[in-house]
Amino acid sequence: MLTVAVLVNQLRVSDNRVLDTALAFNDPVLPIVCRCVSWYDQPWYGYTVRGPHQWAFWDACVADLANGLRQKGLTLTEYTTDWVGAIRTIYQTHRRIRVIFPEQIGGYEARGMQAVADYCRHHDIPFHTEWDWTLFDSMDMATLPRSFTPFRRRVEAKPHPWMPLLPRMTPPPHSKSRGETAAKAHLHAYIWESQAICHYKETRNQLMGRHFSSHLSAYLAHGCLSARQVYSEIQHFEASVTQTSGTYWLVFELLWREFFQWQYKKYADQWFTYGGIQAQPTAVPEVNDHHRQAWVMGRTADRLVNAAMNELRQTGWLSNRARQNAASYLIHDLNQDWRFGAAVFGHYLMDHDVANNGGNWMYIAGVGNSAHKRVFNVANQAERYDPTGAYRDRWAHDAT
Ligand SMILES: Cc1cc2nc3c(=O)[nH]c(=O)nc-3n(C[C@H](O)[C@H](O)[C@H](O)COP(=O)(O)OP(=O)(O)OC[C@H]3O[C@@H](n4cnc5c(N)ncnc54)[C@H](O)[C@@H]3O)c2cc1C
Repeated sequence: MLTVAVLVNQLRVSDNRVLDTALAFNDPVLPIVCRCVSWYDQPWYGYTVRGPHQWAFWDACVADLANGLRQKGLTLTEYTTDWVGAIRTIYQTHRRIRVIFPEQIGGYEARGMQAVADYCRHHDIPFHTEWDWTLFDSMDMATLPRSFTPFRRRVEAKPHPWMPLLPRMTPPPHSKSRGETAAKAHLHAYIWESQAICHYKETRNQLMGRHFSSHLSAYLAHGCLSARQVYSEIQHFEASVTQTSGTYWLVFELLWREFFQWQYKKYADQWFTYGGIQAQPTAVPEVNDHHRQAWVMGRTADRLVNAAMNELRQTGWLSNRARQNAASYLIHDLNQDWRFGAAVFGHYLMDHDVANNGGNWMYIAGVGNSAHKRVFNVANQAERYDPTGAYRDRWAHDAT
């Protein structure tokens, strides 16, 4: 029997439960990835779900994954269809197959998983799922706290994963290389070589620079590293080198990621509604295309926001502080629907993660895990976080 391992957001070889489960059957394994173009190329508020930065990142990760799998004697096959389309094609050729699928949280991916499960049931194909996405394997959803602090206290008391230290990886030769190899090399450079993690709490609000924050988000979003691996690496560093407010705070931020993933699982149906998880019945603000376009193209009255949007469009990445300011400005100064902003971010961000993106947008709009609106005074923020104007000078002038 052929074991099909469907890799969705696990673009790695190590600590990959889908792959490990598939291999444990001791039958030939076919790892596959699907581009699902009919979904990812669909527009949401006029912006495709996956934009060019994310595709470029994904392609590079898939190339690295294919290489890693080859070293294990496995051949990665890429399909342009959705997952059901791929399973149908494989089934028509091989007939005796089983399917291992990573369990999905919500939205399109969860519907896609369900479609595969239905297809398999209909054709008597054994179908297994593996939860592989979060630091913790399970959560009591009935009592899941809606705000972060009680959630954090609860999970801090849970047993935490402890993975072996990651092997040291040499950075890939090409500076634009992505994928598991680059992710491990980057993690090593950030934690062990530069020890920049020690100062993370002081530097994390900066707008630019190499190691002011971990820059792990895109690797996590595509599963080039598991959250367990990142967490464990920090634990190893704390046990053998030092424990600082920076090492603690990086774990703290990983718990924000964890928080939004479980919130999304619980509130998936409300995730894309204007009233969010607060289910506020307020009217959707009127569309102002002029404001929206000015915001996207970095041509608003505010240079910090313009700089952020130009950086986003051109690089596919933004610091957390820049994201907060750009989001607050669209929602509270330009009075536009937060979902338009989430769609634009989703399209351009290399690290787009539905839970983190939607969760943060709702948080700033005051319809997420707290009903309190987060309104940023962007002029004050610019003075505080860009006192010399270097960030604005670097990005704001360019509105191509
Ligand atoms: C409007 C808005 C949209 C966002 N959209 C996304 C998104 O699509 N994908 C995404 O991964 N993050 C998103 N974030 C969260 C955060 O801005 C990024 O994770 C972070 O800037 C990425 O840089 P880093 O890896 O250097 O983060 P670090 O500061 O080094 O943090 C380490 C990791 O912790 C997690 N993390 C940090 N801050 C947050 C946060 N506020 N919420 C959830 N997880 C967090 C991320 O996985 C990150 O990689 C968004 C934030 C805002 C305000």
